[in-house]
Amino acid sequence: MAIKVVKFGGSSLADASQFAKVKDIITADPARRYVVPSAPGKRFSDDIKVTDLLYRCYNARDDRETFEKTFELIRQRYLEIERDLNVDAGMAKALDDVKYEMLFQSSSDYAASRGEYLNGRIMAAYLGYTFVDAASVIVFDEDGTFNPALTQTAISCKMENITHAVVPGFYGATPSGRIVTFSRGGSDITGSLVAAGVKADEYENWTDVSGCLMADPRVVKGAKPIGVVTYNELRELAYMGATVMHEDAIYPARQANIPIHIKNTNAPDDAGTLIVSRIKKDEILSRGVVTGIAGKKGFCIITLEKNMLHNEIGFGRRALSVLELHHLSFEHMPSGIDTLSLVIDEKTIPDMERLLADLTHACNTDSIEIVHDISLIAVVGLGMAGNKGTAARLFAALAEADVNIRMIDQGSSEMNIILAVDDTDYDATIRAAYEAFVK
Ligand code: ASP
Repeated sequence: MAIKVVKFGGSSLADASQFAKVKDIITADPARRYVVPSAPGKRFSDDIKVTDLLYRCYNARDDRETFEKTFELIRQRYLEIERDLNVDAGMAKALDDVKYEMLFQSSSDYAASRGEYLNGRIMAAYLGYTFVDAASVIVFDEDGTFNPALTQTAISCKMENITHAVVPGFYGATPSGRIVTFSRGGSDITGSLVAAGVKADEYENWTDVSGCLMADPRVVKGAKPIGVVTYNELRELAYMGATVMHEDAIYPARQANIPIHIKNTNAPDDAGTLIVSRIKKDEILSRGVVTGIAGKKGFCIITLEKNMLHNEIGFGRRALSVLELHHLSFEHMPSGIDTLSLVIDEKTIPDMERLLADLTHACNTDSIEIVHDISLIAVVGLGMAGNKGTAARLFAALAEADVNIRMIDQGSSEMNIILAVDDTDYDATIRAAYEAFVK
């Protein structure tokens, strides 16, 4: 029988009515056998996520009044969900245990993880599935680094005889039993790991949007959803700021060749976005040339100029060793006959003056120039490969929008075109690119 691992985000589990929607979704498809819940999220815009309350509570351990008050908010949320669902998940006792344990922990990880732990217990009772504590299958080394190999073995061994289980997201434990969490939003990673561990046919990631959009809807009103996207395309878009799930969640599913389906708990009939490793040629063509557009602000371009640079051996190496010394990574390095430019995320440069002085010295430049407030915009799509006229269409649209392009980079994979423009042209660039290819 087919297996689907389904992960539900915090807003999908914010209260009992959301739990009920989730149950309907799960029972609608018998393949949905392994469930990974987040902690209860916001019920309304000013609400506080349970995870945030837990961090707050942990930090207030020395202040009894705040600690008690904050913990009460957490307690009420779980008791209310349990009561409204009419299940007995032993919440009252579990909450007492958590409150007491929190006082003895040396890091906030234990406290933060309880949001998922308690929600997982309610979910298991509500669905009638086996509760599998993530501490028994998601393995971290004693130094706190995640251990992927042991985790995969632990999940497959544990699930061998468990056909239907709830595994709380976000945390795991070291062999000695210390709880460790992933970074925020880490339940996505748990879902991907469980999917790989049980060799699922699909990993469904249920959230509060109907998949990834072709552009940021704050910039392009009514941006269309992406139906199918490859892992590579998504990586490009995610790197450039299009967030749909935790960055580290892609890898385990991708390694195991499991498609990820982003779906909307509040609109389960919407198609969502399917993330796959490969996509057939005719499907690429039917999707259109461009899959998505994303961008990031706040870069700078440092241009080194030196006469006869093109004949000089080792110039690039010297420039890059300076970056290495400053622990800086660069995004792009376009070069001309007498110039070499470095595009760097400006907030990562702690000492600009020193960096420029070191570059000037190491490369013996004639001049060095810096341009601030640069945006990088990626126009991504497998359909661009071999498709003549794509660049012409894009640049014509940008000229029409009166955008000045500072740099162009197209990798030989032809999967993306990256542009550098002034931050002030960020919105106009994304809109023009969107309109050129999508509308
Ligand atoms: N509850 C955790 C957070 O708020 C993890 C998650 O939701 O994925 O970050």
